[in-house]
Amino acid sequence: MATTPAVSADLLAKYEPVIGLEVHVQLLTASKIFCSCSTRFGDPPNTNVCPVCLGLPGALPVLNRKVVEFGALAAMALQCRVNETSIFARKNYFYPDLPKGYQISQYDKPLAEHGFIEIDIYGSKKRIGITRLHLEEDAGKSLHEGFPDASEKTAIDLNRTGVPLAEIVSEPDMRSPEEAYEYLTRLKEIILYTGVSDCNMEEGSLRCDANISVRPRGQKEFGTKTEVKNVNSFRFIREALEYEIERHIGVLESGGKITQETRLYNANEGKTYGMRSKEQAHDYRYFPEPDLLPLVVDAKWQAEIRATLPELPEARRERMVKEYGITVGDAATLTRTRAMAEQFESAARAATNPKRVANLVQSEILGRLKAQGLELEQSPISMAGVAASADLVETGAISGKMLKDLYDLCFERNKDFGAVYEEEGRPEQSRDTSTIEKLADELIAANPKQVEQYRAGKKTMLGFFVGQVMKASKGQANPQLVNEVLTKKLES
Ligand code: ADP
Ligand code: MG
Ligand code: ZN
Repeated sequence: MATTPAVSADLLAKYEPVIGLEVHVQLLTASKIFCSCSTRFGDPPNTNVCPVCLGLPGALPVLNRKVVEFGALAAMALQCRVNETSIFARKNYFYPDLPKGYQISQYDKPLAEHGFIEIDIYGSKKRIGITRLHLEEDAGKSLHEGFPDASEKTAIDLNRTGVPLAEIVSEPDMRSPEEAYEYLTRLKEIILYTGVSDCNMEEGSLRCDANISVRPRGQKEFGTKTEVKNVNSFRFIREALEYEIERHIGVLESGGKITQETRLYNANEGKTYGMRSKEQAHDYRYFPEPDLLPLVVDAKWQAEIRATLPELPEARRERMVKEYGITVGDAATLTRTRAMAEQFESAARAATNPKRVANLVQSEILGRLKAQGLELEQSPISMAGVAASADLVETGAISGKMLKDLYDLCFERNKDFGAVYEEEGRPEQSRDTSTIEKLADELIAANPKQVEQYRAGKKTMLGFFVGQVMKASKGQANPQLVNEVLTKKLES
């Protein structure tokens, strides 16, 4: 919890916070950025190392092509321009877990620049600029725990040394901790959709440094910033920013000056502490890495990478609202993860009434999952089951109350809807394909316009046909079977 405000609401209102974030994302390649060592998390310390990532003399880095592709894909998803030529640079500093004495990063010629993320803040949209996305290698990990004399010893695990990272630097465009939280949420969502990182904060696959300053409202120049490093959850970042804003204002109001420094957040206390000031900061003496050629990602390669870009969450939400007649709120919930969106869409396409599916997923499935502490992937009811049950309610074969009872049984027995429906003695349904085929043929002949629309790509028309067949069979046909028969006929 953040501590109680050190400054009054009046003073808070007098100042405007300015925030810029630097986010490190681990790219999900199997091997490291400059050698073939494994990137697997959790292996015994110092087992995934070689002369290159140990920085032994004479060992030369070889760039992993997949890292470039993942980095460029993330950059494209963040609306960045990918530079045709970028340069690796040595960032020199000494740290026990950095065996080479320098980190290979990118400096004045990064892989990509000039992107943005659109955030929703209190109902309106705002663009947060992305200055750059560059590639670099991770450092190792110092371990201070697990020793009898922990205060005296530090152990080093170099498995992480050379693991590929994309660093994403934002413009100082955010004006509140809330905006920073929203930016991080959207950023993570986009990166997860691209699949280039698992963004697992506990495992350090996503790390954020938050830069913060305040200025009197109306003043043009930025104030002096501090940087809060290595905060390990979005909530803590928001809290650390809230704390820093109040601290800055307190210092300024009492006639003091903010020193530019790096600080650490203690989540238990809800306070930040100075770690090192910028005066003592390292001079990194960047220079172009002599062991690597300039990285060239030409137009052809860029086009190949772009072709693998999935539909992004924002675009997907807009399309889903149009395609399925669901609300913006429905779409927001149902696209929380790419897997959820995909599962919902598979059910929505199979069912007669997508809106009903959206309602069922949100009110009946997510609620039950939450109550049992389960993830969507662990749901006993599959999306095919949701689609089938939605159609049964649609045709009146079962009531809404019956559906809820059946869902309860599914969760009790850990069985899918179809199985429980059978067990509970469903109303007799026709699995007689010949009747369904006959009804389907009649319908297809009677609705040439809808057939044409379907064949032109409007796959939701399937729902129309399923509904008609179900109606004609008075709810007696098996919806899944109807689905199969119709799909076959319409596709042929
Ligand atoms: P440094 O050289 O100190 O690392 P950069 O110019 O590289 O600073 O910026 C690092 C991050 O800090 C960026 O995300 C940027 O948007 C942000 N930033 C820069 N100046 C300020 C400021 N005055 N207040 C808040 N954030 C800032
Ligand atoms: Mg910087
Ligand atoms: Zn190695």
